[in-house]
Amino acid sequence: MRIKAVVFDVDGTLYPNRLMYIKSVSFFFSYPRFTVHFGKIRRRIRTIRPIDDFQKLQRQMLADSMKISLTEADRYILEVMYTEWEECLKGMPAYPFVRETMENLRARGLTIGVLSDFPIGRKLAYLGLDSLVDFALTAEQSGYLKPNPEPFRLVSGTLAVPPEEVLFVGNHYEYDILGASSFGMKTAHLTGRRIADSPADFSFRSYEHFMEKLDSC
Ligand SMILES: [Mg+2]
Repeated sequence: MRIKAVVFDVDGTLYPNRLMYIKSVSFFFSYPRFTVHFGKIRRRIRTIRPIDDFQKLQRQMLADSMKISLTEADRYILEVMYTEWEECLKGMPAYPFVRETMENLRARGLTIGVLSDFPIGRKLAYLGLDSLVDFALTAEQSGYLKPNPEPFRLVSGTLAVPPEEVLFVGNHYEYDILGASSFGMKTAHLTGRRIADSPADFSFRSYEHFMEKLDSC
């Protein structure tokens, strides 16, 4: 596979989602209403096009959904979602062999990036991976969430590399694999079960086998 960069999704791709769910139970009980409403508007916002101002729309949708003021909605988003939530990741171990995989990729001269739907903040530092990653982007910067093409265009533009020379690695079939492959990127799907007719160039269960799978493509 002729690629110049490997770009990883973060949640559920660099560390197991289920660990995050366990750690975030107390977060859910602190903000049950917010968690439910925020989850709902994030799913809806993926399907809205065009979006003029992502943050403005998200704030407005949350305020309408929870029947709260725009200022309160802002506080929830900035202080609760983007700050407290991130703290849940403190001490979270990355998946086994993620580090070694990134070191191997770097040794081959490939650029390594991450693209998450959420702000990255200190997540990479908490996972102990920050020194191995060349750039970290949030889809929100592009004005849209995955699987829209804009986040992937942002990656390609940041790298100044055409999409077909980027391998995107993710755990979510629709957001990561369909999103990145529709934009023309190569894709690797972290999954326990292979999906029939998946456009992914390869799928893998564990990073232990990532390099072999990559080399066989
Ligand atoms: Mg994910």
